Amino acid sequence: MRARYVVVVPVIALIAAGAAGLGLSQRDVEAPENVVPYFISDGTGIPGFEAQDRELARMALDDWARASNGRLRFEEARSEQEATVRLIWASPSGLYGEMRQIIDAGQVRTLVYVTPSATDQDPAFRRDPLLRDTIVYLTCVHELGHAIGLPHTREFADIMYSFGFGGDIVEYFMRYRRRITMRADIASQSALSDNDRSVLGALLAGAPLPIVPRRPVPDDNRTDR
Ligand SMILES: [Zn+2]
Repeated sequence: MRARYVVVVPVIALIAAGAAGLGLSQRDVEAPENVVPYFISDGTGIPGFEAQDRELARMALDDWARASNGRLRFEEARSEQEATVRLIWASPSGLYGEMRQIIDAGQVRTLVYVTPSATDQDPAFRRDPLLRDTIVYLTCVHELGHAIGLPHTREFADIMYSFGFGGDIVEYFMRYRRRITMRADIASQSALSDNDRSVLGALLAGAPLPIVPRRPVPDDNRTDR
């Protein structure tokens, strides 16, 4: 695998801000469920995009929602403008994915970029459609993890593991690929490790609304390295 392909590291200052820093009321903090409006863009014309990739993105949202034990619920927004989290299919950039935050009409919006053509870099990926779907799916899960506030970890078993720490990138994808025999299996095979779930639980306990920030962050809060 070409070394230039990396998963981008986000820096999410909003986590450290905590609930109080986000201007949340006590009622917000005690809310049992955080509803996140999302929007998945139309990837028509994006290199490597396949129509069913939208479903992979939805399954990735479901994975995090299930792991939250009811604390997170993702709802499809009526329009892109109303979505707090926007998943955008990206043209080749040398990245599997990337997460950025912007201010749009005075509101913080989280943009999750997923590059379907990143699966074209190795002939082995192209020969196995399920491996190709695995890569798109795991990239969605990883970048959406950033979108809801999870940082990278050093644990290879974690979906939030950073390739920046080295390790076998192909195996990162293959270990999940071996667990599925058909595409539909993805819906029932979580990509999250126990540690990913622990981090999510801690995040939700300490800052219940990291994905719905109430105050602006700088426009240049780009999340790569
Ligand atoms: Zn990352």
